[in-house]
Order: sequence, then C-alpha cells, then structure tokens
Amino acid sequence: MTIRTALAIDGGTPLRTRGWPAWPPPADEAQRALLHSVVDSGNWGATDGHLCDDLATAFAGRHGCRHGVTVANATLALFASLIAAGVGPGDEVVIPGYTFVASATSVLLLGATPVIADVDPRHLHLTGETAAMALTPRTRAIMAVHLAGSPAPMDDLRALARENGLVVVEDAAQAHGAGYRGRPVGSLGDVAAFSFQSTKAMTAGEGGLITTNDPALAGRAWSACNVGRVRGGYWYDHATIGWNLRMTQLQAALLIPWLDRLDDEIERREQFVRQLASALAGSDLPVRILDDPDGTDRNSRHLLLLRLGTDSEPVDKEWVVRALTAEGVPVDRGFPNLGRLPAVARRSTVLPTPGVDLANAAVVWLRQNVLMAAPDAVADIVAALERVLTDPRAIARGH
Ligand SMILES: *Cc1c(COP(=O)(O)O)cnc(C)c1O
Repeated sequence: MTIRTALAIDGGTPLRTRGWPAWPPPADEAQRALLHSVVDSGNWGATDGHLCDDLATAFAGRHGCRHGVTVANATLALFASLIAAGVGPGDEVVIPGYTFVASATSVLLLGATPVIADVDPRHLHLTGETAAMALTPRTRAIMAVHLAGSPAPMDDLRALARENGLVVVEDAAQAHGAGYRGRPVGSLGDVAAFSFQSTKAMTAGEGGLITTNDPALAGRAWSACNVGRVRGGYWYDHATIGWNLRMTQLQAALLIPWLDRLDDEIERREQFVRQLASALAGSDLPVRILDDPDGTDRNSRHLLLLRLGTDSEPVDKEWVVRALTAEGVPVDRGFPNLGRLPAVARRSTVLPTPGVDLANAAVVWLRQNVLMAAPDAVADIVAALERVLTDPRAIARGH
C-alpha cells in the first residue's frame, strides 16, 4: 500500500528540486570567437560583411535549398515570403488554428486575410481535408506550420495546392533540422521561414531566415528585406517597394557555429523522448505523446506535445499544469485557439475548429530544455505525472 504524500501544490515537497538546463544555453567557444571577431571589427550590420550571407547559404544548404535570406525575425520572414510568393492584399491564406500568432499576423501585416482552419487532433496539423474546407476563389496560399518540430503532412497539402493553383509557404519557425520523406523542412513548399528567437531550437535572441529553391522568388524575398534593392544593383535603385528587415552580423556570428551542433542536439532530445515514451508505455497513465503525420522522417523535437486524459475522463488542464509545475516539472498550456483570440478573429475568416479546441483542453508541452536534461529526469517526469494525474482534482469537473 502506498501512502500519498502531499502534493507540492498543497505545500508538500516538490518531487524534483533540481533545475533544468538553461535555454538559450550560454555561448560555446566557437560562438564566442566568431562573435568577438565581429564585435572587434565594428562591422556589425548585414551590409558590412559576408556573415549573414554565409549563414543564409549554409542554413539553406542544410535544409535542402540553394537560396537563403537572413531576416530580422520569422514574423517578417513569413511576411517577406508571402510577398515573394505573390500573395497580396485581399488574398486569403489558409493557416491552422493551433499555431503561434505570428502565422496569422504576418498575413495581416500584408493586408491579406488569414483563414483559420482546423487541425487533426492526432497530430495538430492542418490536413488536406481541413485545408480544403477553407478554400474560396480568393485563396492564394496555404501556410504549412511544422508544429513543435513535427513536419506538417506535406504530401496532402502540396497536392491540394497543386490542384488549386496555390502556393505553399512553410512556417518552419519550430522545426530547424526536421525531415519529411527524405527531404528537410524548408525545401518542401515554395518558400519557408525559420525563426531564431530566444525560445527556438537555434537562436541568436532574435532572427529569421527564408529558404527556397526558386531563384526568382529568392530575389524577390531579398528585395523585400533590403529596401527594394536588386541584389548586386546600384545602392539607391529601389526597383520594388521593400523595407529594412535585416538581421545583424552579431546574430549571424551566434548562429553559424550552431549549425555544427544542431544534429547532436536533436539526437539528444530524441533519445530523451524515446526513454520517456517507453516509460509512459510501461505505466497506465492517461498520457500520450502526439503522433507525427505519415511521411515524417525526423521530428526535431523542439517541443514535446502530450495529450493528457481520455475522452471519457478529460483532465482539468489548468489545475494539472499548476500541480506539475509545482512538482518541479514545468509544462506549458500551449497555444490558444487563434480563432478565439478576438484581435485575430475579427480580421480573419474562422472555420469550426473542434480539433484545436480539443488541443486547448487536453494538450500540454514540455519545452526543449526539459528534453535536454540528463536522462534520469525521465523518471521525475513520469513520477510527477503519476502523482498529479492520480489525484481526483486532475479530472475535469462534470465528469
Ligand atoms: C516563433 C514563431 C514564429 C515567429 O517567430 P519570430 O522570430 O518570433 O517572429 C512564427 N511561427 C511560429 C510557429 C513560431 O513558433
């Protein structure tokens, strides 16, 4: 017989008192050396040297693309990608209801309209079916979001785009290094945007990058980010309307060396997730790691999405999140339903989104720094889940 110890949320001792790896991690030697060389040179801006171009080329190459453009952040990288792909004011762009708000606001920035579609509750991605329901004669693009490191089901989304003459923009802000059917994300649509903001899997505090295999599109993206200049042209010739959306060499100096460790870090998180999956499979806890769409070669494990509870016994997610966090296992509530954020919904077309609502009710995240802890943390996570989910308060009232 086990005697229940008091939960930390009730004043008991937290199950885990040790902390978690910091994110972002401190700079390594290679980053420090390159950053110092930039700082000491005084050539801090993108227009003062070749580091931003070096990063763009290397990062694009790592993601199966011949062309890359560095950008100030991924919101603007999505904005510039949409422009370069020919999306304009009044057009409609299909986006999933479960994503970061920038997937919608990048569309709004352009004067285009986000059409918020449902996701498949098994993996929380747009599907060919949910996206098809969102199409109108004004649809111009589908934004495929590679959520949490899991590639979107691109076969179906691309087929739908092909049939309807649409472009596919990948929001790869959460999926550096992920792969689908033998190809890296970033090379699966017409154009893709990555983020280097602090929470992402490669970061310089802020930053973004556009990848594509279409040279003309790359040129338009570059111009949009470089005040309408034509690459290689006269400095004050502004052939199109563009803006200064550039990153700095200081950021590139932190990011170039990261490419050498990205694969190791993904592998480390993957090992952790494998151990957690097998520990969960050996328990009878109502916790399920979300599936990946068919065709996924590699989930880059940016975040780990866990579905808690069951259809017949849904969890009280707010309480569970607070109780787990009190036990020293920090979990995130995750994204709200974009279609239920008034500021976004007012300017979007919102379709029914039962899949997103289910995610809001039942899905939590473990962040990448948790997945990068020493493997003995797996036992702490499972023990905390056990402690919290077996408490009667974990089950939603009304059940
Ligand atoms: C972080 C994020 C963005 C925006 O990236 P920023 O660099 O912060 O502008 C866009 N889409 C998704 C899915 C993200 O997670």
